[in-house]
Amino acid sequence: MTRRRLVAGNWKMNGTGADLDEVTAIAAAAAACSAVDVALCLPATLIERAAKAAPGLAIGGQDVHAADKGAHTGCVSAAMLVDAGATLTIVGHSERRAGQGESDTEVKAKAEAALAAGLAVILCVGESDAVREAGDALRQVAIQLDRSLPGAIDEPSQFSIAYEPIWAVGTGKVAGIAEIGEMHSALRGRLVAAFGAAGEGVRILYGGSVKPDNAREIFAVDDVDGALVGGASLKRSDFETIIQAAR
Ligand code: PEP
Repeated sequence: MTRRRLVAGNWKMNGTGADLDEVTAIAAAAAACSAVDVALCLPATLIERAAKAAPGLAIGGQDVHAADKGAHTGCVSAAMLVDAGATLTIVGHSERRAGQGESDTEVKAKAEAALAAGLAVILCVGESDAVREAGDALRQVAIQLDRSLPGAIDEPSQFSIAYEPIWAVGTGKVAGIAEIGEMHSALRGRLVAAFGAAGEGVRILYGGSVKPDNAREIFAVDDVDGALVGGASLKRSDFETIIQAAR
């Protein structure tokens, strides 16, 4: 099955109004590369301004609460993201799983809430260094995926998995090409087991120190349908090179 590639930037806790010019420059780079879907997941404070400044670019959140509303200080609901102009959100990023203690059950609920509100979802999974060293990465990530997946997906193109080995996120270390291929193939199998034919339409992104000089090689791996890019998405020229490598 042919899947359009998706390159999504994750600005993490970076960016203020002073960086909106960078957002519009990335939007222009994305518009010039129509064969690739491009998205930018921004701090919640920037979403509305970015969506207005760059109406052609998919703007997303980096997390969402599973509840519609209520006593959840500091959190943002899916309806709020939509209201601000977001069209997608990340859920289950390893920095939230570790820093905020998010469980697979919570990640699943977040994914279901976001999909129900009409947001596309990028759901992150990935193993720790210790699990990789113990030779248990495939098994552990499959368990994490199975427990985190939403119960159903109506539109496969609106749901993506990001395989992000924790030891590769923000470290400059990249998983080997064989490791990426093996994991993405295993994840595809789990998605088809969970969703049938629709699982073939789900994009599986790689994330973890994707840079201009390694993107092309990573995109050449079977079942790599794009990338979730942290640090390199903060610099337009680097992000643009990665987008072009996805063509
Ligand atoms: C990320 O934030 O999801 C990520 C993969 O970061 P980096 O590209 O900096 O490793």
